[in-house]
Amino acid sequence: MHFFTICLIVCCSMALSWASDWGYPDLDNNQDEPFPKWGGICDSGKKQSPINLHAKGALKGEFDALKFENYNEYQKNLQMINNGHTIQLSGFNHELTLSGGALLNDFVVEQVHMHWWSEHTINEIRYPLEVHIVHRNTIYPNMTMAANFKDGIVVIGVLYHVSNTPNEAIGRIIKNLGAVKSYDSINQPALVADSLAVGDLVPSVESYFTYAGSLTTPSCAEAVTWIVLTETFPVTLDQVNEFKEIESAAGKQLHNNYRELQSENNRAVVLVEQPEDRSGAAGLTASVSLIFTLILAGQKFLM
Ligand SMILES: [Zn+2]
Repeated sequence: MHFFTICLIVCCSMALSWASDWGYPDLDNNQDEPFPKWGGICDSGKKQSPINLHAKGALKGEFDALKFENYNEYQKNLQMINNGHTIQLSGFNHELTLSGGALLNDFVVEQVHMHWWSEHTINEIRYPLEVHIVHRNTIYPNMTMAANFKDGIVVIGVLYHVSNTPNEAIGRIIKNLGAVKSYDSINQPALVADSLAVGDLVPSVESYFTYAGSLTTPSCAEAVTWIVLTETFPVTLDQVNEFKEIESAAGKQLHNNYRELQSENNRAVVLVEQPEDRSGAAGLTASVSLIFTLILAGQKFLM
């Protein structure tokens, strides 16, 4: 066999074994099970995610509004996979484009997936579900390239709170879980029968935390501008429990798939809120704090 072919096979199988080896502790079975080391920058990085988001400790920010294109278009050909670590949706008919805010480029949605329980906590509170809408900077041709640059990826994080009211959009995803739940169907895409608009998964975007962080799964690339919305959406515990039934290995259910909190390491976390009153003394305070925040945000995001 040709030397390079052997190298390719060895390298590919190494990459595959690494990719399939990582996992989460099963906290339903053992709350004290330590969080595993995932290796590389996951362990050594200084800008890792998720983190706890504090309303009090955050810098106040004011930016142009975020702009969303096509998020409310119903997607007819969505594909769902169970990749052993989450449920992921992709195959959007329309290009879903995010711009505005502190973003310097256009970002398009690559995939949507979820974590049960939430990865980010707000004021130390963990929520039952977090949806991640993963966007790629359009100046990079694909996610692999984008992951090499600090402005490569934007992830919108939406947290869900416990309620008696089932969430309709989440319900439409759950209806299709049967096709991908079992370990036998891992990585095999199934067509999502019910059409779904990504906008249905997103509450108000007027108020959010933003900070520079990483992917929360290996490779843990520090390429992510996080936008975590402060408004949460309702979901029932019965709905969350449906996700806990998906299998990550033969006979093994994925009871939880959130990464433990990472050190903030003195990063700027900016809280962007819709200003309520721009007049008088309050307006002046807001302008001074805006200048201060923009200087800081500029240092963190643009350099
Ligand atoms: Zn995620």
